[in-house]
Amino acid sequence: MSAIDQEVAGYYDKLLKRNAGEPEFHQAVAEVLDSLKIVLEKDPHYADYGLIERLCEPERQIIFRVPWMDDNNNIRVNRGFRVQFNSALGPYKGGLRFHPSVNLGVIKFLGFEQIFKNSLTGLPIGGGKGGSDFDPKGKSEGEIMRFCQSFMTELWRHIGEYRDVPAGDIGVGGREIGFLFGQYRRLVNQHESGVLTGKGLTWGGSLARTEATGYGTVYFTNEMLKAKGESLDGARVIVSGSGNVAIYAIAKAQELGATVVGFSDSSGWVETPNGVDVELLRDVKERRRERVTSYVEDATGATYHEDGSIWDLKADVALPCATQNELNADHARTLIANGVRYVAEGANMPSTADAVEVFREAKISFGPGKAANAGGVATSALEMQQNASRDSWSFDYTDERLHKIMSNIFKVAKNTAAEYGREGDYVVGANIAGFTKVADAMLAQGVI
Ligand code: NDP
Repeated sequence: MSAIDQEVAGYYDKLLKRNAGEPEFHQAVAEVLDSLKIVLEKDPHYADYGLIERLCEPERQIIFRVPWMDDNNNIRVNRGFRVQFNSALGPYKGGLRFHPSVNLGVIKFLGFEQIFKNSLTGLPIGGGKGGSDFDPKGKSEGEIMRFCQSFMTELWRHIGEYRDVPAGDIGVGGREIGFLFGQYRRLVNQHESGVLTGKGLTWGGSLARTEATGYGTVYFTNEMLKAKGESLDGARVIVSGSGNVAIYAIAKAQELGATVVGFSDSSGWVETPNGVDVELLRDVKERRRERVTSYVEDATGATYHEDGSIWDLKADVALPCATQNELNADHARTLIANGVRYVAEGANMPSTADAVEVFREAKISFGPGKAANAGGVATSALEMQQNASRDSWSFDYTDERLHKIMSNIFKVAKNTAAEYGREGDYVVGANIAGFTKVADAMLAQGVI
């Protein structure tokens, strides 16, 4: 074991002991630390002043009780989280997730990833994440509203335009942001539009924010294809999930000439050999708030499956856009055997560490989430710019800025990988480029 290997193993061992029972957080940190070995070899000063230990320790972790009353007048109690991970580059920025699988470790993994992702956007935003183990599925609109109001009744004191700016994530879309913003405005008695992003268009929201993560993932994917002299035109694409990210990844991929051959939800997957009817999918998911089975009932040529996996489909490109660890090493091998040559993560950490290794060994072009799905938070930062200047930009202008940001993230990840002798390894490129900017800011700002 080299001295650097030993040093990094030391950081990781300490992290495991101090953060027991948080496997997703361990996984996210392990990947970044592995990439940093070559940085520390070249520039040992990045380990000065306890920088690595400080980077892995959130600046603040808030856990709170969220009591609310259901439609039958029963009192329910959930747990709320906000992890303010790193504010060296700007106010904490990152979404809120409402899903029964949420716990502190999940929020810490997401907050940790967010630091590097936000750094890669080139915009002045730090990293944070939050959420609750509340399950929005099957809840009435009144229950969702009362939950959001109770959640904000604690969260409001920890956030603010210059402090911490939450947004949506799994289970938190425009409706929930509306309820959260309403309660914030009532509590602080101010219309502080810059406190949340993903807002409605008439009260401070930005055009193109809804589409941004999915569109951005496809812009990044397109750059990966272009780098190998290929294009999405005529390509077959698998998109997992059917939420916000998936819907707009499907829409943009098809706009660029691809055929999306399948999508999914947590119950099953849908095969669409002739492509996806995006308007029907939006109607089912955004307006009717129904399951993907409703899409199959109303579409022609689509079939629903609960056996096997969406990763069994034959395709050229795979875009996992649902949730963490949804694609394992066996899935990765199947994808490669079925012709997939490009994978970009619309979701956060959807590929297990083993799956990433399989892609790496097979020399598949692989875009990690912190680079490929950064378009959502980047457009949130554009929403903050519009709020600060009391302005609102056109869809085309905002989309053009998003497109440029994604192309730039790709370029930075590609060039950084090459600079460190790891040509084509966008995981290493994104981790190092995201890290050095935050690390330089932390070193300049002293031990805090
Ligand atoms: P949504 O809640 O809109 O959609 C989530 C989708 O993923 C649904 O289709 C859901 O299916 C599926 N899903 C959720 N959990 C599971 C699970 N355990 N197993 C299988 N499928 C699951 O969320 P988003 O589209 O906003 O987020 C998707 C991913 O993208 C997440 O990883 C998120 O962190 C990431 N992301 C989101 C951004 C954004 O701007 N929204 C920005 C950057 C990253 P079902 O309906 O059955 O639960």
